[in-house]
Amino acid sequence: MQTYKRFFLVQNKFVFLRHNMNKFSFLWTVWFMEWVLFACKPSPENSSITQNNQNNKMTLVQAPEFHQDSSYEFIVKQLAFGPRVPGTLQHQNCRDWIIEKLESYGAKVYVQKAKLRTYNGKEIEISNIIAQFFLEKPKRVMLSAHWDTRPFADEDSIDQSKPIPGANDAASGVAVLLEIARHLQNNPTQVGIDIFFWDLEDMGNSEVEDSYCLGSQYWAKNPYPTNYQASYGINLDMVGAQNAQFPQEGVSIRYAKGVLDKVWQTAHQIGYGAYFLFQQSAPIIDDHYYINKIAGIPTIDIIHKDISKDHFFEQWHTHGDNLEIIDKNTLKAVGQTLLQVIYNESPEF
Ligand SMILES: [Zn+2]
Repeated sequence: MQTYKRFFLVQNKFVFLRHNMNKFSFLWTVWFMEWVLFACKPSPENSSITQNNQNNKMTLVQAPEFHQDSSYEFIVKQLAFGPRVPGTLQHQNCRDWIIEKLESYGAKVYVQKAKLRTYNGKEIEISNIIAQFFLEKPKRVMLSAHWDTRPFADEDSIDQSKPIPGANDAASGVAVLLEIARHLQNNPTQVGIDIFFWDLEDMGNSEVEDSYCLGSQYWAKNPYPTNYQASYGINLDMVGAQNAQFPQEGVSIRYAKGVLDKVWQTAHQIGYGAYFLFQQSAPIIDDHYYINKIAGIPTIDIIHKDISKDHFFEQWHTHGDNLEIIDKNTLKAVGQTLLQVIYNESPEF
């Protein structure tokens, strides 16, 4: 797995240019300059280890228990449809199943449809799935993940033109959020919870600016429900692999440092500090980037990034992204942390 195809690592840019010129696009330059300006500002966020405020413990309420077995079964089910490549029947079938599940948990569900054009000229109808719980509550928290899978295995050595199973990228995020949705019906939170499943995240090309995350980009420019606002957002991507590491990612630090600290602190307090590292990773262009930048909702990304190898999970964008690499303990760490965060959230703005 190489991060560079999709994501832009500010710190390593020049090293990368020397060794990987063919993989890099100068289209990132404008965005890079923005980051340089940001990076030049003296700020405690630029230290390589972020503050661990473990001495300031939060008071935690009793949250429901996240069931990793149930969450795991949601991954099994998604994979049983086949690759969820936008424009295919498997994708439609999985969408209908997700909607049915969310409605069975009492959510008000909307599907935002649009015809979008990919970087290689394909016109594809997308479905962003939006599920709202506790509509009467004015303060809202947004949870999200993409639900489509990549149509090719460009990081694999074989069968690169065939689609990947996408167990971790991105069935794991959907599975964690469905398990959270399952708890909401009988255990109301003090705030409204909105779950967004973004479509067409993973059909991009790193040489083409803004070619990933097409579903979330569309939503950010055309929010639905109209005038939607949330206090903050948490996006999940690749949250099910064994020995996952979630460093504090650069875009999240820039736009939503307070949210990041709250979530990481919560994870540490309830025993999942081995996954949530108080270490920074470079900015990553994922769905949360557009939610921050265009929709203006401070949103973090919980995303697997092995800092020592400068890599996502090992099987990223290969056929090896299958059930074998999923670890229920990772699903539990992420899901329980999220449940704790949302049940701890007070109704006051
Ligand atoms: Zn991906």
